[in-house]
Amino acid sequence: MTRERGLLNHIARYSKEHPLGYRIMRYVCACSFIFILLSTLLQLMLDYRREFKAVDQQVELVRSGYLASLAKSLWDMDEAQLKLQIQGIENLPDVAYLTLNSQEGGTINLSEFTEPQDNRKVLSHSFKLIHETARQPRPLGELQVHFDLQAIYDRIWKKGLSSLLSQTLLVVMIVLVILVIFHRQITRHLEAMANYSRDIGAGKLEHRLSLDRTAPNKRDELDQLVLALNEMRQSIRSDIARREQEQEELRFNRDQLQAMVEKRTASLQQAKDAAEEASNAKSRFLSTMSHEIRTPMNGMLGMIQLLETGELSKRQREQVKVLHDATNALLETFNNVLEYGRLVEGAYSASSGPFSLHHLLHNITALLTPEADRKQLQLSLDMSDDLADHLQGESGSLRQILTNLLANAIKFTDHGLVSVQASALMTTSTTQQIRFEIRDSGIGIEPELQQHIFDRFTQADESITRRFGGTGLGLAICRELVEHLGGAIGVDSTPGSGSCFWVELSLSLAELPQQSVTNAEKTTDTAPLNILLVEDVEINQQVVLGLLDQYQHRVTIAADGHQALQIGQQHRFDLILMDMHLPGLSGIEISRRLKNDPACPNRQTRIIALTASVRPEDVHGYLEAGISSVIAKPVQKSQLLDAIAGNSLAVHNALPDSDQLPLPLLDESIIDVHRQMLGAEKLSGLMQGFCKVVDDLWPPLQQSIRDNDSYDISQQAHKLAGACDTLGFSRASQQLRTLEQLADSGDSDPASQLEILTDTLQASRELAAAWQAR
Ligand code: ADP
Repeated sequence: MTRERGLLNHIARYSKEHPLGYRIMRYVCACSFIFILLSTLLQLMLDYRREFKAVDQQVELVRSGYLASLAKSLWDMDEAQLKLQIQGIENLPDVAYLTLNSQEGGTINLSEFTEPQDNRKVLSHSFKLIHETARQPRPLGELQVHFDLQAIYDRIWKKGLSSLLSQTLLVVMIVLVILVIFHRQITRHLEAMANYSRDIGAGKLEHRLSLDRTAPNKRDELDQLVLALNEMRQSIRSDIARREQEQEELRFNRDQLQAMVEKRTASLQQAKDAAEEASNAKSRFLSTMSHEIRTPMNGMLGMIQLLETGELSKRQREQVKVLHDATNALLETFNNVLEYGRLVEGAYSASSGPFSLHHLLHNITALLTPEADRKQLQLSLDMSDDLADHLQGESGSLRQILTNLLANAIKFTDHGLVSVQASALMTTSTTQQIRFEIRDSGIGIEPELQQHIFDRFTQADESITRRFGGTGLGLAICRELVEHLGGAIGVDSTPGSGSCFWVELSLSLAELPQQSVTNAEKTTDTAPLNILLVEDVEINQQVVLGLLDQYQHRVTIAADGHQALQIGQQHRFDLILMDMHLPGLSGIEISRRLKNDPACPNRQTRIIALTASVRPEDVHGYLEAGISSVIAKPVQKSQLLDAIAGNSLAVHNALPDSDQLPLPLLDESIIDVHRQMLGAEKLSGLMQGFCKVVDDLWPPLQQSIRDNDSYDISQQAHKLAGACDTLGFSRASQQLRTLEQLADSGDSDPASQLEILTDTLQASRELAAAWQAR
């Protein structure tokens, strides 16, 4: 049993390890056994026939050899002879026994040793025993020879079985031999090849495949397979090598590209740096220009204005007027160039606020009426009935656009009419779209030139330039401004008969007539003031002195920073006019010291900066140092008077007039100036800073108020008021200054201010946050 089980295990393992060999073994075995069975069957059949042929031969032998003599012996009753003959028959190979059926009927067993057996298979042959006498044949009975069939069958069976066994053994041996041969010749090589293929798949391509066998004389199928596998390996290797080379090339190209990109980036960076440097240089140049040109022009203009107020002959007065006009034209050109530069750089940011459109149009027309009169032109203003008056927007830009167009219309018209028309195109609940038309009956513009005149430095032709002068920038500035306002500008013109320049804008309707509308009508007259003028250049001192001469102000001059500081710390002034570029201490530094010194009598005195440096960052610095207003040099008389009176658009009075109650929460004109000077982004930063200042200073101030600590209240209120001033939170500033005064005087209860101040500061802070979010 255990041996059988061991064999079965063996076969199972073999079938698993060598499935092909096992399958072949199974097929060979099955086929062989069928053949064995068939051949054994055939052999059995042949043996069968041969055995029975032998029986037939024995029957014949009995018939021919024994029958006659046996009949004679029986006849003769020769017992010895009979015995011999019976023995002779019995000795035949397959005879089992003999019987004799006598004539009389009875059966005699002739065999001496063998008894007839009933269950024994026998084949019986009967022979008639006839004794031939001379007279007649005498029948003696019937001899029956019984052949042993069992023995014959046994023999056939044995032979068949032994042949089956021997053949099976042979087949098994042959199968085993075939298997061994098959394994040695094929399967182990196949397995080696499979392993090799697996190695190739895993990328092991170092070795060639060679089979472990004696090479046959002729290349066989296995050799072909090996060759094919080796060729495959070779092609994979070359494929990989090719791909590696390609990758290497790719890497190289990529590195090259990267290097090129880096080089290009570096050169672009260089170019960018250079461009930035150039741009900075341009800015510096503009700033220097601004300073260098405006300063001497300041002197010139100032002197001219002084000359005009002096005693002159008629001829001299005309000459001075020409000089004044020329200087003004030069200043205008210069301003145009600077302004256009700022516009195209995007640095321009106009002030937005409520304004009266009717007033603006009247104003512009009135301004240019003298020029129209001089040219004997009829100038008319026509406003449609539905035209809104109270609007919100960048009135300064609108004023400039319309002034430019009207000035051009007058300039390019020698006789006839010039008209300004404004009509509403569409009105919604919040906006009105307005069309402005400036018509003239002047020289007109050639059709092909009409589309170019809005380009910078473009004029119709040289003869016009010669005749009318100009820079060719006016219309370019107009177009930039109109686009900035989101509107459209154009011209319809017929050469020789006139032009119509039109502007279409959508403007926001203001809810209420604003204070600033009336502000613009304010007077420049002020009571005589005690003024400190800080200016190192003598000619500039004379200009300012001259400009202020007729107004009975008392002007003290400080010629340098230290002197200014000394005087400022000793004497109180109503106003300080401060040049910013001073030797030694700068105007900013002096202002800061005067403002921050609690003992200084001018801590609350308005300081107006007179400077040619009016870049946004400069102005930001001035405002931070506590300066209230900035006047760009060259100083114009009207501007200076406006600034002193505190009501010019270009000048900003950060100290609210306590008579004016109630002040607006936010003085938008200050915001506008900030935005114009600093840009919207920085303004938003300022608003954010303001929120922080309120958050930082208001809680301790509240505490001081509750504690009734006059000194702290005064200090903190002053600080917070300064911050409010800077950003135009006029109402908060006013209330804080009142609080400061109450605390300083000590004769009233500052806590009475707490509630109203809380409301105002909260509203201001919310407004600042909203501005910041814009
Ligand atoms: P300029 O400083 O030369 O006036 P502008 O940009 O204002 O520059 O105008 C450009 C050109 O357009 C002018 O030189 C003139 O030829 C033409 N132009 C402008 N307005 C008129 C007008 N109302 N009638 C005829 N020509 C005009």
